[in-house]
Amino acid sequence: MKTNVAIVGGGLAGLSSAAHLLLAAPDRYKVHIFEAAPILGGQCASWLDAKGRPVETGIHLDFPWYHNKDALFAAIGSPLPLKETDGNYYVCNGQTGQIDTLLAGKSVLKTLRGLATFPGLTPGERLQLTGFIFRIMRMDDRTAESFDHLSVTQFLLEQKLSVGIRHQLALEAVTIQGLRPEEASAASFIKFLRTMYGSMGLFDTTFFGAPLGDALVEPLVDFITRHGGHIHASTAIQSVTPATSGPARITTTAGITHEADHVIFAVPGYAVPALLPVEHRATAPFEALAHLKETPIITITLWYDTKVFTDGNVYISHRDREHGPIFDAVADKAFHWKDWPKLKAQGSIVQVLIDAADDVLHLSDAEILAKVYQDLERFFPRCRGQVPFDSTVLRLKNTYCGTRVGYWSKVPRKHQTGLAGIWLAGDYTDGVYHYGMESAIISGKAVANELLRVINHTGFEILRPRYLPFVRA
Ligand SMILES: Cc1cc2nc3c(=O)[nH]c(=O)nc-3n(C[C@H](O)[C@H](O)[C@H](O)COP(=O)(O)OP(=O)(O)OC[C@H]3O[C@@H](n4cnc5c(N)ncnc54)[C@H](O)[C@@H]3O)c2cc1C
Repeated sequence: MKTNVAIVGGGLAGLSSAAHLLLAAPDRYKVHIFEAAPILGGQCASWLDAKGRPVETGIHLDFPWYHNKDALFAAIGSPLPLKETDGNYYVCNGQTGQIDTLLAGKSVLKTLRGLATFPGLTPGERLQLTGFIFRIMRMDDRTAESFDHLSVTQFLLEQKLSVGIRHQLALEAVTIQGLRPEEASAASFIKFLRTMYGSMGLFDTTFFGAPLGDALVEPLVDFITRHGGHIHASTAIQSVTPATSGPARITTTAGITHEADHVIFAVPGYAVPALLPVEHRATAPFEALAHLKETPIITITLWYDTKVFTDGNVYISHRDREHGPIFDAVADKAFHWKDWPKLKAQGSIVQVLIDAADDVLHLSDAEILAKVYQDLERFFPRCRGQVPFDSTVLRLKNTYCGTRVGYWSKVPRKHQTGLAGIWLAGDYTDGVYHYGMESAIISGKAVANELLRVINHTGFEILRPRYLPFVRA
């Protein structure tokens, strides 16, 4: 008899759980995925708008240490269409109006050159920064997490770094953690920088050669359904009753109840407790999850008749509301999608990301767009005098659990919950810094391993970043 597995949430974590179970033992599992939205993919979704044009949740960078994600797509027979950048980060500097180049990439030498030429710093500061990065690479997880009670701002002050270095490094908190440095956890900051500077990859930072749905979601959905999995879109789960003697019961908002031997929660951590009976909400690990919070993000897509960008790099910026720009990242998707057979647009499709957007949420769409146009004209000469013929402004809800101060004391370190047959997946539960696509994929793989262990079946190896020999992680 097959084991019944119900997965709540059809983002990358839910899809990864299902795909790994069906890769390992398709004859042993009956898998059902319940997804509240009409489309799969969660934060990694894309869809066609009313005019048939692709819209994504937002700019997604794929990092060279995302080995588990690459391995999964290779295993299902759909290697990812990756579009490599030159690896550098281009920083729109609101104070100077110039774009600074931060050299980075798969080669250690280039990364070291990046530190030695770090923009906006004096030679003495660059030496200090290099020493600081080496200190970070020597920190193990335990040491990194001992700084979880500090914000990035406090940690950088405590490290006695110069004002210039503090200003430059604060960039990471916004672009990666999606939070302002005053609220972002220093532990996550350390873990990300350690992996970025301390690991080696085969390629540079990449984008996908097709919208997220085509590149990431459809191949997984296709594999799951071809191997007997069932996907229920537009089916929100209202409650999950853990098993006492018989199977667990999950009930949709339409009042339909399903039974399952295992239930995998693959929704953002803060959404889990409300799905459980009240008596479980105040117990570990659920009580702490209720204190996690999403981070507000705005994604703007601009369609131009002409090419207003000359490359496919991502341009990031300092969170400097005084000098601008309003955006945290900008990239031309038409450049990444140029080999995608379904691409119809001739001109640029500019995606603009505003992370940690709570301070601009009060602005109307028209006000946000006006500011974005002004900033694009300021930094990108080809945008001058060009007005997009169409635009969308997405105010994203239910995004990832923000890695705020205290984050590491709240996130679970295992997938078991203490309730029989109830498991946790999701980017917040796994990975080297518990955020992002790779963490979501790893979490699904790890939960699949737990379920496979129950039936004495071999699991999958969880791949670690390829750290340089002296890095302690
Ligand atoms: C704009 C943006 C940019 C990003 N950029 C990057 C990047 O550059 N690099 C990177 O690695 N990561 C990036 N991320 C993060 C990455 O997208 C996420 O870490 C990852 O997709 C999380 O996957 P998940 O499956 O854990 O969660 P989710 O994608 O949130 O999936 C959870 C799913 O559960 C569903 N759900 C919730 N409640 C219920 C319910 N009651 N019943 C049924 N279904 C439910 C939701 O609809 C959702 O589909 C970005 C995220 C955003 C929003």
